[in-house]
Amino acid sequence: MFENLSDKLQRSFKTLRGQGTISDENISDAIREIRLALLESDVNLTVVNELVEHIRTRAIGEKVATALSPSEQIVKIVHDELVNVLGRDTARFQKASQPPSVILMAGLQGSGKTTTSGKLAQWLKKAGHRPMLVSVDVYRPAAREQLAIVARSISAQLYEGKLTDSDIAKPGTDAVLRLAKEAKRDAANFGCDMLIVDTAGRNQIDASLMDEMAQLKKLLNPSEILFVADAMTGQDAVNSAKAFNDLLTITGAILTKMDGDARGGAALSIRHVTGAPIKFLGTGEKPDAFEPFHPDRIVSRIMGHGDIATLLERAESTLDRGKAEQFAKKALSGDGFTLEDFRDQLRQIKKMGSMKSILKMLPSVGPFAGMQQAVENVDEGQFTRVESIINSMTQKERLDHEIINGNRRKRIARGSGTTVQDVNNLLRQYAQMRKMFKSLGGGGGIKAQQRMMS
Ligand code: GDP
Repeated sequence: MFENLSDKLQRSFKTLRGQGTISDENISDAIREIRLALLESDVNLTVVNELVEHIRTRAIGEKVATALSPSEQIVKIVHDELVNVLGRDTARFQKASQPPSVILMAGLQGSGKTTTSGKLAQWLKKAGHRPMLVSVDVYRPAAREQLAIVARSISAQLYEGKLTDSDIAKPGTDAVLRLAKEAKRDAANFGCDMLIVDTAGRNQIDASLMDEMAQLKKLLNPSEILFVADAMTGQDAVNSAKAFNDLLTITGAILTKMDGDARGGAALSIRHVTGAPIKFLGTGEKPDAFEPFHPDRIVSRIMGHGDIATLLERAESTLDRGKAEQFAKKALSGDGFTLEDFRDQLRQIKKMGSMKSILKMLPSVGPFAGMQQAVENVDEGQFTRVESIINSMTQKERLDHEIINGNRRKRIARGSGTTVQDVNNLLRQYAQMRKMFKSLGGGGGIKAQQRMMS
């Protein structure tokens, strides 16, 4: 996410590194580089010009009165100005005075509307809401079926509705509006406080789509109109956001496919061009690859400072604290840490997302420098291999690794589709970990430690 922009910006800061004072000349050099970095990352030209102007004015203004080095100073200014472009606040949800609050999802076909509707429903459920989903795409039965599958997979309420024979023979706005109206009534009857309306997309913006969206808006009086933008489409996403906003006045945008090598720079311009905040990011195809958009955290990632806050939140919401404490106790006592515990830990970590996505949230400057290099070399398959090796063991073996002799190793390798060498490696690593934990536990284990503390 934003790697391209991040790399380029950080390179431009290097121009100033090692320079004792900030001067008109070195500011100009650095700003030229920053401008290029932004343009090459597909940030909208107007936005670039404005940003660069602000950076220049501030850099010149702050030339003297600061204890920071020129490169630190520019980093700080660019950071602040990027946050300004993205909006300072984390977006909030508007609510209707009378439930359900309607969230109208707008966007072009393939932008990720249906997937995102599901992600949003799941997110709202976790936040304690009772969302209902409805697809009013009467033109493509497959689209409504897709939403039904998504709803089932996250156990969310769905209003399926029925189309008449004539709706099917001649689909049109009447059927769209009828479904929407029924769904809103159904949501109220079911005690659902939010209704997410997935609408029909088109390959490109056309008058009939826009007319339908305008009628839906009038009928439903939505609290939120969220424009779903495919970040991979660069400037096109910005242009469609503008067109939708001109007609509907969107209340926010959701950027999808940020996990790709997005020309993410373009997406940064959406806020500036429409005035509407970015509210969420889609970072993968799965329902939980979705996060609220925090401008300051994203800018921190772009600047190579990582995003520890999001990482901690992710850990908090996925890891089981009780289990972790139990594990720590067992591991530190040395002998208690079995291969079953090891597998449990792997599963917990896997729940947090891919190793790459975790490492990417660490800063790429300071003590973690070089980590980004490691990200490129991460072998995601390694986790799965280790887990399948442990799965191929009998419970007796998992509880007592010392009985795993040569014959057993061969059997385990066959069972897990790995080699005896893989099994040997795993057992060696496991033995080292036990040893390390034991020494951390203070030799005598946790009991001895507790005695010392009392
Ligand atoms: P719609 O036509 O706008 O409803 O789009 P869909 O929800 O059907 O999504 C189109 C494709 O994009 C599907 O293959 C989705 O799995 C994929 N997709 C949606 N959001 C994301 C995302 O955040 N990351 C990735 N990698 N793929 C996504």
